[in-house]
Amino acid sequence: MQHKALRIAILSRNRSLYSTKRLIEAIENKGHEAIVLDHLKCDIVIEQDQPAIFYGGKKITHIDAVIPRIGASVTFYGAAVVRQFEMMNVPTAVESQALVRSRDKLRSLQILARSNVGMPKTVFTNYSKEVKNIIDSVGGAPLIVKLLEGTQGYGVVLAPTKKAAESIIEAFHSMKARVIVQEFIEEAKGADIRAFVIGNKVVGSMKRQGKEGEFRSNLHQGGSGKLIKLSKKEREVALTAAKAMGLSIAGVDMLQSERGPLVLEVNSSPGLEGIEKTTNRDIASDIISYVVGMIEGHRKKKTRR
Ligand code: ADP
Ligand code: GLU
Repeated sequence: MQHKALRIAILSRNRSLYSTKRLIEAIENKGHEAIVLDHLKCDIVIEQDQPAIFYGGKKITHIDAVIPRIGASVTFYGAAVVRQFEMMNVPTAVESQALVRSRDKLRSLQILARSNVGMPKTVFTNYSKEVKNIIDSVGGAPLIVKLLEGTQGYGVVLAPTKKAAESIIEAFHSMKARVIVQEFIEEAKGADIRAFVIGNKVVGSMKRQGKEGEFRSNLHQGGSGKLIKLSKKEREVALTAAKAMGLSIAGVDMLQSERGPLVLEVNSSPGLEGIEKTTNRDIASDIISYVVGMIEGHRKKKTRR
């Protein structure tokens, strides 16, 4: 089959990051052209009927698709750049709206609850003084307190007793830090599972175990990944969660509990290193195949109009 090479842009701050490098390789292996654009260096030009992006003083043209790899700390500007590509009718692997939604822990939990996937019972209040009631409503201690703005396991605290929970919640509230209070899933034993979703398939999964004495399983907190096969239910929940969030590429984190899989979070820029090394699968290439299909679908839509 002969095809014209596509030009695919990765929005990434640094081309030497593992995930970015792997996506570049996968694009080039399939005979396409990869370009890396630092989203923070994109200038958005808004003008009637002529949306444009300038990069290093030059107008960006002829991009067939973008793959956003936008860090949580720059969501606002990154999402604006993705939205501008949407205005320019360039298909994106992550839509700007889904990106923004995924970065809001509370909104994400509300959306997931509505889509009927299991999750740990969670309470959010406007710095309520009724701390005892909050604690009771998640079933008492031990419980988890999470900073709404935290990532990579920072800002997730386990309160072993009611007394400790009260002090921790009050301390955060007195600093005007927004937190959610969550039921502690003890039987997860410091592990969680990550399902990597592309399109309507789980392409890889791993179990991440926190290091000895650590309830957080994040790789950034010293956790380690090992290969697991998901149950049918776990796969279904991962796909439902990604779909509810409007993400076709997602890392869905779940806890294994007595009442089945409970979704913690749906990541819109899931890292490739842990999952590729654990599963020994070329997930970057799966992503690019998906993106190429997305470009073809987009072209068909255009010609039909
Ligand atoms: P972050 O977004 O910072 O990674 P998470 O909500 O994913 O925060 O929590 C980090 C880790 O802490 C999880 O991967 C999991 O291992 C553990 N954890 C989080 N919430 C709970 C909970 N309700 N019960 C038990 N363990 C939890
Ligand atoms: N951004 C990383 C991911 O989504 C975080 C992994 C972690 O800390 O466990 O895989």
